[in-house]
Amino acid sequence: MKIICIGRNYADHIKELDNARPSEPIIFLKPDTAILLKKQPFFIPEFSNDVQHEVELLVRINKIGKHIDQKFAHKYYDEIGLGIDFTARDLQSELKQKGLPWEKAKSFDGAAVVGNFLKKEIFSDINNIDFSLKRNGKVVQKGNSVLMMWKIDALIEYISKYFTLKIGDIIFTGTPAGVGSVQPNDVLTGYIGETEMFSIKVK
Ligand code: ZN
Repeated sequence: MKIICIGRNYADHIKELDNARPSEPIIFLKPDTAILLKKQPFFIPEFSNDVQHEVELLVRINKIGKHIDQKFAHKYYDEIGLGIDFTARDLQSELKQKGLPWEKAKSFDGAAVVGNFLKKEIFSDINNIDFSLKRNGKVVQKGNSVLMMWKIDALIEYISKYFTLKIGDIIFTGTPAGVGSVQPNDVLTGYIGETEMFSIKVK
């Protein structure tokens, strides 16, 4: 399986990092080795002094497809989840400055938290899902899928122009504002609505 991530999909997050607004979605990949194993803590890697949390809605692909039209995109996923796209921001800034790929900053072991998934039928509107992240019990990030610049079905159309989507692939749909550094002993808890989707200890 592969993880496809979308960068800069929420206007408020683009602003906080002082990034340019993209004219089309920004895509990068994480390998399956980036997935943080269930029940394991997240270890801050020694190569970064500024690992930041990015809470994101996840979409799990359940049907193989390529060149998927937006109209039919809903047939290719049946579950929505929540995760964290951990980012070594100091390393990413360095790579961005040099015009180099971001993988070392975003795709290292443990950099993808994949929490629980919910059947999409439970949502009355996929484009109106509230989610949030608490750090040590305090809300640090809050988002709603209505604020995505490219909505889930549009992302699937765009991504599948370049990559065949396979069963089990996961899309990280981008983070809203409020990203911040994590510290040893932090507990990060993610919610869709009021439902807890993951809880991660940082070491
Ligand atoms: Zn992200």
